[in-house]
Amino acid sequence: MRSVDEHLAACLAGLVALPAVEVPLPEAAGCVLAQDIVSAIDMPRFDNSSMDGYAVRADEVAGAGDEAPVTLPVLGDIPAGRGDALELAPGTTMRIMTGAPMPAGADSVVQVEWTDGGTEQVRISRASRLGQNIRRAGEDVRKGETVLTKGTRMTSRQITLAASVGIDRLTVHPLPRVVVLPSGSELVPPGKPLQPGQIHDSNGYGLVAAANAAGAVARHGGIMPDDPAEVTAALERAVRDADLVITTGGVSAGAYDTVKAVLRELGTMEFVQVAMQPGKPQGFGTIGPDATPLFTLPGNPVSALLSFEVFVAPALRRLAGLPDLDRSTPLATVVEGWRSPPGRRQFARCLLTVTAAGPTVRPVGGQGSHLVADLAGANCLVIVPEAVTEVGRGDELPYIMLESGS
Ligand code: AMP
Ligand code: MG
Repeated sequence: MRSVDEHLAACLAGLVALPAVEVPLPEAAGCVLAQDIVSAIDMPRFDNSSMDGYAVRADEVAGAGDEAPVTLPVLGDIPAGRGDALELAPGTTMRIMTGAPMPAGADSVVQVEWTDGGTEQVRISRASRLGQNIRRAGEDVRKGETVLTKGTRMTSRQITLAASVGIDRLTVHPLPRVVVLPSGSELVPPGKPLQPGQIHDSNGYGLVAAANAAGAVARHGGIMPDDPAEVTAALERAVRDADLVITTGGVSAGAYDTVKAVLRELGTMEFVQVAMQPGKPQGFGTIGPDATPLFTLPGNPVSALLSFEVFVAPALRRLAGLPDLDRSTPLATVVEGWRSPPGRRQFARCLLTVTAAGPTVRPVGGQGSHLVADLAGANCLVIVPEAVTEVGRGDELPYIMLESGS
């Protein structure tokens, strides 16, 4: 039997980031940068006002107070976007809006709330310090500065930054395209009535959601009945536009385990027993003309989803161009113990709660790999080492956070 680490290493061994492509900025969302991004501009571009108010020379309003207001003539307006060179004459002020460039000579902005809001002349009833309410050129980003580095995922925050510095095209690793192919002649899509002996396909839906949440673009490739010709056809279709294929079911020791039988002929698959619970039967290899990576996950829904977290999610990170995660951290404290099988690494479905004392975990329901109701109530997988058979209150164990629900 293979250890979890050995199997994960074997799965990841041949995987590299998908070839980088240049895309328009909006299409980069979710993708990982394959280049550094250097700003060609200072940000802010120019000294500008952070308030709606009046541009002044600080020393001219230094004595302003409720009892001793300072009155200045207002020589014009500076709305945001005004770009002509302006100079503030001594003894005057200009109305200025948030984001508008500071006129030369002005060194402070009195916010409008501290004035009577006048347009011909303005009464200023509070002093503003030198430099107050001014955003300085380059205080955020300096021209020539590297603002985003290769390997960064482009979420809304990074897109905002790239757009701010004027980037409209960038080189990224594309989102991995995933096709999920559940197998089993007993499977019927949700929404269709169940005949005797049939069950709803849940793996197809759960795994598409899991892969999307992991940053892939996943689709359900249809249910494969336990028929070699249909399984072969579905796999051939899937590899045409997938960067990674996931099947579920049909890989145990049963007489109708067709996926295994077909793939023995088709790909470079390895079917192994992994020393884990749940999810013992695992398979990985490549198929098709482009040597597309293929994971054959177990059929039991809990095993399928957990195997996804343990093996497929790290593979998707590789394809996406992200660095490997260190799963030896973080740790949580067990508040209620449970049993774990000897010689197998257990991925225990647990509920993680962050308390003042730190993160704590308790097991959720039964650990049978068909118990999907309990799975839905868990938010993390606690990793119990192979040698441990009893998890006790107060133990500290590492956990994998599941896609966060609540
Ligand atoms: P198998 O590995 O094909 O023997 O499947 C193991 C168990 O998981 C059986 O009880 C199957 O009915 C169930 N199963 C397999 N595929 C799915 C699926 N897509 N959705 C829900 N249950 C499944
Ligand atoms: Mg089956």
